[in-house]
Amino acid sequence: MIKVVVTGAGGRMGGRLVSLIKESSDLQLVGAVERKGHSAVGEDAGEVAGCGRLGITVSDDLTALADRAEVLIDFTAPEATLANLEVMAARRKAMVIGTTGLSPEQLAALRARSKQIPCVFAPNMSVGINVILKVLAQMARALGEDYDIEVLEAHHRLKKDAPSGTAIKLAQVLAEAAGKDLDAVAAYGRKGVIGERKWGEIGMQVIRAGDIVGDHTVLFGGMGERIEITHRAQSRDTFARGALRAARWVVKQPPGLYDMQDVLGLK
Ligand code: NAP
Repeated sequence: MIKVVVTGAGGRMGGRLVSLIKESSDLQLVGAVERKGHSAVGEDAGEVAGCGRLGITVSDDLTALADRAEVLIDFTAPEATLANLEVMAARRKAMVIGTTGLSPEQLAALRARSKQIPCVFAPNMSVGINVILKVLAQMARALGEDYDIEVLEAHHRLKKDAPSGTAIKLAQVLAEAAGKDLDAVAAYGRKGVIGERKWGEIGMQVIRAGDIVGDHTVLFGGMGERIEITHRAQSRDTFARGALRAARWVVKQPPGLYDMQDVLGLK
């Protein structure tokens, strides 16, 4: 059994992780953590997740639990993720990070610290998105500059960061395939009399509505045809199952920063 601690256990992803760990035959939940003052602290993690009593009380102190874990799965918020990474790095324990919305400085800190431990970090842990990421660069290169590229994403109204980490990753892969820097070619939304579309720009469009779990479309617009590649997550379980697959994989790896392409053997 692989011993797992989940941070953000009272959150949407945390709840699904706790429930799916309970169902699995090779993973064991040995701790659940929430931020200080969260209503889940002191409650049973299984009851918080809605999957029945587990006998694991949600704590607000990762340092007290970290030694029990072989791997920490963290879907929380950027500052919390970095603080949790410090705790795990000090103990040389593996980590799976799904949190999105990290600033460039936070990403640099994550890259530096995760050299000390095996760490999977991916803005989207679904198998489908990672297969799309794999074929996208090849498509962009084959279609060339005659095809305009737009990345569209839609998420639930409670999502805090925009565009989604997945949309940014898709756009980065597309920009790299064209030999460009995303910051130089990204166009985030459009308004007013802004003139014709700039040659080579990558448009980024964001929708926030209701309970949409996560939709992403890459649109290649040519003259006389267009291609749309769309991925729709139908439940959070696709991300949670990917994170559990990453947890099983990462405990066997040497220290280093990995992504889902590594986990799925797509590199
Ligand atoms: P959520 O429902 O808000 O859950 C996040 C949880 O983390 C909340 O319960 C939050 O508490 C808690 N938290 C904040 N600081 C904490 C700390 N210091 N220690 C422990 N828990 C802490 O959000 P979610 O939908 O589960 O998403 C969480 C993150 O995962 C987001 O960044 C989201 O974009 C990302 N995500 C990634 C993937 C992927 O495949 N990589 C998929 C889905 C979501 P409060 O509510 O009190 O702040």
